[in-house]
Amino acid sequence: MTTQHQIDALRDAPVAEGRNLIDGAWQPAASGALMEVISPLDGARLTGIAQSGTADAEAAVTAARRAFEDGRWRNQSPQARRKVLLTWADLIEAALLELTVLGVRDNGTEIAMALKAEAASAAATIRYYAEAIDKTFGQIAPTKPDVLGLVHREPIGVVAAIVPWNFPLMIAAWKLAPALAAGNSVVLKPSEMASLALLRVVEMAHEAGLPDGVLNVVTGAGPEAGAALSHSMDVDVVAFTGSGAVGRKLLEGAAASNLKRCYLELGGKSPNILFDDAPDLDHAITVAANGVFRNSGQVCVAAARLLVQRSIYDRVAEGMAQAAAHMVVGDPLSLATQAGAVNNEAQLARNLAAVEKATSEGATLRHGGQRILDETGGTYMAPTVLSDVAPAHHIFREEAFGPILSLTPFDDEEDAIRLANASDYGLAAGVWTGNLSRAHRMVRAIRAGVVHVNTYGGVDVTVPLGGVKQSGNGYDKSLFALDKFYDLKTAWMQL
Ligand code: NAD
Repeated sequence: MTTQHQIDALRDAPVAEGRNLIDGAWQPAASGALMEVISPLDGARLTGIAQSGTADAEAAVTAARRAFEDGRWRNQSPQARRKVLLTWADLIEAALLELTVLGVRDNGTEIAMALKAEAASAAATIRYYAEAIDKTFGQIAPTKPDVLGLVHREPIGVVAAIVPWNFPLMIAAWKLAPALAAGNSVVLKPSEMASLALLRVVEMAHEAGLPDGVLNVVTGAGPEAGAALSHSMDVDVVAFTGSGAVGRKLLEGAAASNLKRCYLELGGKSPNILFDDAPDLDHAITVAANGVFRNSGQVCVAAARLLVQRSIYDRVAEGMAQAAAHMVVGDPLSLATQAGAVNNEAQLARNLAAVEKATSEGATLRHGGQRILDETGGTYMAPTVLSDVAPAHHIFREEAFGPILSLTPFDDEEDAIRLANASDYGLAAGVWTGNLSRAHRMVRAIRAGVVHVNTYGGVDVTVPLGGVKQSGNGYDKSLFALDKFYDLKTAWMQL
């Protein structure tokens, strides 16, 4: 059990300058440029990271390609690779608090959430795929007796993993662990808003015995280092989590270069549907508030659209405003905090503008809507509840990626389904009902990658996460995610 005292002891620990890891060597950007890292907790400079450009990205890709071609990783026995990954997970777990505090100082997530969702989850994910290495294999096809059809699974080559800032360790592990388990080489591009803990995690992979060049990292701005990866002729797969706007750029990069495969885990505007037969309305309201306000709403599956049956609408709107008012927002390094900082000034400005637009279009502001805790120098926003939100409003349709909940009433099941699916996105959804048949009908009718019933969030590594519509393609987590990192090859043999 972590204590506040243990956290406070690490609060001001010195932070080393971030460098790139290319072919096993830590090095500054080729240009020597540094990018400032500003902590969202207090607006102070934490350190600098390498401001990488095309030359750095290309050097990393060249190293990854060489490591793949000479087989230093993919040709090791499955048991040897499993051992390296399991040791890596052990090292991450042993440094759990150190990694978590560093990550929180960099990205602003409240530590109670980060302790569960970041290093601990990354270690669990790495273990899961390590254990899969010698338990998943190809197939023999059911052919006629005079031929043999063998289906081989082969690693693809060089994977570029480009990840966002909201859960940097967890999401990076969703890409790195299956990509490496399958025998690929990787170039990781962390978000410039959350690189520091990931750099340490990558260092641990090498301490665990991962050969040089198999996992490389380039930090810095997306439009430079990230774009160079998407335009590279030598990257085979891009595994991305982030915004739709950048997802589109990655597809353009693939089209303009070598047609590399792009797996895109994008944003959402997830509906959470509250029927008047929900088994415990107070519990539903508490979970719905957590589902949108934790990590200050910077969660891809955030339940940002609460659709409420008209008969309970006023009660739920009042309950959500109360829940928002009672949310403990503030110091991300305090164990008592329920919602930490907004990651950066630009994101906070976008959040505030989204609220202003919503009210100008006719939504009613029930709570929040403003920047708070100015005296800290950090970026904090009050949990915000908007009611009377209509499908035509921007806030109903566009991802805000902040602590903003909108409420919309519905009349019956059909109306709820229509509103839920009135979105370009399809990442997650929630349904609250005591009627089992209705629950199953809703799961079938809602277009989303995950539908929660009488809960929200908490899905583990055993099940896939992926979006439909403009929430992306491909799946993170579960054994299905391995498919992104293998090619199938058929051997057809006449006997
Ligand atoms: P972002 O798209 O701005 O950045 C993501 C990554 O892409 C960063 O590493 C960034 O440096 C890089 N990047 C930026 N421009 C690039 C370019 N031109 N070429 C290549 N790379 C580039 O996203 P963000 O602000 O870090 O994260 C928030 C977004 O991520 C939200 O839309 C959120 O919904 C989404 N998200 C989705 C999931 C999911 O699983 N579906 C999970 C978490 C976050």
